[in-house]
Amino acid sequence: EAKRLRQPVAVYNPGAEAARALHLSLLSDLHTAIQQDQLRQFLQPKRDLKTGRITGAEALVRWHHPQRGWLPPGDFIPFAERSGRIRQITDWMLARAVRTLADWAAQGRAPLYIAVNISTLDLQDQSLPARLATLLAEHQVDPGQLQLEVTETGLMASGTDPIAVLHAIRRWGVRLAIDDFGTGQSSLAYLQHLPVDELKVDRSFVQDVNTDPRREALLRSIVSVGHGLGLTVTAEGVENDAELAIIRNAGCDLVQGYLLAKPMALADFETWLTAQG
Ligand code: C2E
Ligand code: CA
Ligand code: CA
Ligand code: CA
Repeated sequence: EAKRLRQPVAVYNPGAEAARALHLSLLSDLHTAIQQDQLRQFLQPKRDLKTGRITGAEALVRWHHPQRGWLPPGDFIPFAERSGRIRQITDWMLARAVRTLADWAAQGRAPLYIAVNISTLDLQDQSLPARLATLLAEHQVDPGQLQLEVTETGLMASGTDPIAVLHAIRRWGVRLAIDDFGTGQSSLAYLQHLPVDELKVDRSFVQDVNTDPRREALLRSIVSVGHGLGLTVTAEGVENDAELAIIRNAGCDLVQGYLLAKPMALADFETWLTAQG
């Protein structure tokens, strides 16, 4: 994981005025960040518990700010969303992921998929499915190797109905996951209408699942709903073997978390992957 050289912006907050000034300056910096190649795409692997194989990775954005050092997404994604600049980050992340997939194919690596996080605002943009299709065609990447992660709260909050956009994306063959599942307000009835492939169980159900029987009960019921709908169920944020044992026993399909690996820069991820054999 990127070493944090500075305090997070949320903590570095001497007063409302200063905070506002800082936000404004970050926002204008964000404008140049993409042109000046300051964003990085870290990758965190996911393992299939049945086969033991690495099936894919989640892409997580990092900003290497010239003055502030490495910034985690929590320090800038929220402003990018409020200012509408998120679309540039999303497009950069999608393009970076697709280029990596094309490079891996050219190197003859076994096909993995990469999952990119998508904001609520992206789902209101009717041009997203066509932009994705163009990008995949340009790099001749199998759409099934790209996945979009949409949070459950993001789905519920989006102003326009996201279902049409999700169906259009799914029709191109791109896969969809619901992120942070279990933390939102979506009803199970709503879930059945979403063209998704995977449920990612929020870390709050995973953390200390080995010591809290109620958490285990919730985890088991989420797995059962997911499997009942034919979805892959992933446990995220798995940190230790005790949690893993319960997660495996509960029937989760995939795991992701610090126990397996932290998010890594592309070159480190490739080295790590090669070492997995
Ligand atoms: P998320 O999508 O739920 O991503 C998982 C977060 O949990 C990541 O934090 C990851 O580093 C962290 N994590 C992974 N394994 C563990 C673990 O075992 N223990 C703990 N404690 N944490 C773990 P990160 O990278 O700081 O990202 C935070 C959030 O920022 C993400 O949550 C996602 O909502 C958002 N985000 C990240 N990249 C992007 C992006 O490119 N676009 C958008 N729209 N949002 C992004
Ligand atoms: Ca995610
Ligand atoms: Ca998540
Ligand atoms: Ca999250």
